[in-house]
Amino acid sequence: MKPVIALVGRANVGKSTLFNRITKSRDAIVADYAGLTRDRHYGDARLGAQEFIVVDTGGFEPDKPTGVVAEMAKQTRQAVAEADVVIFVVDVRAGLSAQDHDIAKFLRTQHKRVLLAVNKAEGMQESPLLAEFHELGLGELHPISSAHGQGIRSLLEAALEGFTPEEDEFGSGPDDEQRPIRLAVCGRPNVGKSTLINAWLGEERLVAYDQPGTTRDAIQVPFEREGRRFTLIDTAGLRRKGKVFEAIEKFSVVKTLQAIADANVVLLLIDATQGVSEQDAHIAGYILESGRAVVIAINKWDATDDYQRQTLQRSIESRLTFMKYAPVLHISALKRAGLSAVWKALLSAHASATLKMSTPALTRLVHEAAEHQAPRRDGRFRPKMRYAHQGGMNPPVVVIHGTSLDRVPDSYKRYLESRLREHFKLVGTPIRIEMRSAA
Ligand code: GDP
Ligand code: GDP
Repeated sequence: MKPVIALVGRANVGKSTLFNRITKSRDAIVADYAGLTRDRHYGDARLGAQEFIVVDTGGFEPDKPTGVVAEMAKQTRQAVAEADVVIFVVDVRAGLSAQDHDIAKFLRTQHKRVLLAVNKAEGMQESPLLAEFHELGLGELHPISSAHGQGIRSLLEAALEGFTPEEDEFGSGPDDEQRPIRLAVCGRPNVGKSTLINAWLGEERLVAYDQPGTTRDAIQVPFEREGRRFTLIDTAGLRRKGKVFEAIEKFSVVKTLQAIADANVVLLLIDATQGVSEQDAHIAGYILESGRAVVIAINKWDATDDYQRQTLQRSIESRLTFMKYAPVLHISALKRAGLSAVWKALLSAHASATLKMSTPALTRLVHEAAEHQAPRRDGRFRPKMRYAHQGGMNPPVVVIHGTSLDRVPDSYKRYLESRLREHFKLVGTPIRIEMRSAA
């Protein structure tokens, strides 16, 4: 699982500036997806090969137990509880405050690794003002400037010490076909996750297979269906009790993000009687960002009337426009209707996400695409695509080599993407296109 880093600190110390800086490089990947609303509080990030999740918490004032502030404190506590490492941000220009002491006191009770980031320290590396923060008793100080990007790398290196990047599951091993497909079923509480999974696991064709180390409370359930092995990954809001899954009330964004990151394919459930909520759209945003293959299943279709069906269609169109590549199915977990179509869609999404595309086939495709419509020249630069190769799977990454390719606009990349989808029949997976220019 990806490590989780929580940013904690009182208001105005620079947490969101730091959050944006840490997650910025990932933003660029998804910047051109229309309709993607980002949740400012959770993001994917990477340092070298190490991927991690960052959580920004609201301003934290542990001693004000009412209203919005209390709710924020609750959220912060949950974020800290779910984090592997906490970065406690303080503001050197404002100086040490009573609130900082309260937060430090709270953090000491949490038995988490805490790093003290002294922000707004640009030009103040040697300042005596830094020293007073030693009073917090949290060890080494990490002077940083979130606004100017100073000290961030060494702060993150310290935070991620001891974590090792997961190995790429999609190496070119000969046993790729034999590897279980890692499946995460996501959705808000009450959308029908446990009903669906129990319906699946109750079917005879779905044989749970024994795997060493699988315990009674295992959060990963291996099973087989029609000769294909799957591993069902634990998702927020689900718990295994004996042979059945039951829903638990608490919804955890962090668990959802980790499950998505850990999966090959995600099944996103939407409640037909509720429409696509903002939270659904955020989860979809993470799925896009993670690059995982995805199938959307609208559950409780049996319980909708015509009006609800129309509203639903509109909410899908407006809130999930950035996920047009995902197949959308209508099902009833309760009545066990439409479930075999879900399996088919999951398998094709996985097959698309892990398809091997040869260099000659990709090169031919980009040449043909350019013959049909060449990238526009930009002043005296004429972008030229020479050849293309596959740079990764799940999601498929297509690397195009040539000249002046940094001048190719996003609209042209979208054009290439649709050619790729059409040619290789790619469904249910995002595609990443990287341009590499010699000059
Ligand atoms: P948050 O409330 O903790 O999320 O704080 P913000 O990220 O919104 O930042 C609060 C203010 O501090 C904003 O005006 C930022 O521009 C400013 N700020 C953030 N980081 C730095 C920094 O490294 N140096 C300076 N001088 N200002 C910063
Ligand atoms: P979870 O929190 O996502 O695991 O949701 P549950 O599986 O516990 O389902 C929440 C409620 O929705 C239960 O009362 C289910 O019986 C009901 N439910 C689940 N699937 C369907 C469905 O397809 N149709 C209808 N009408 N109700 C459903």
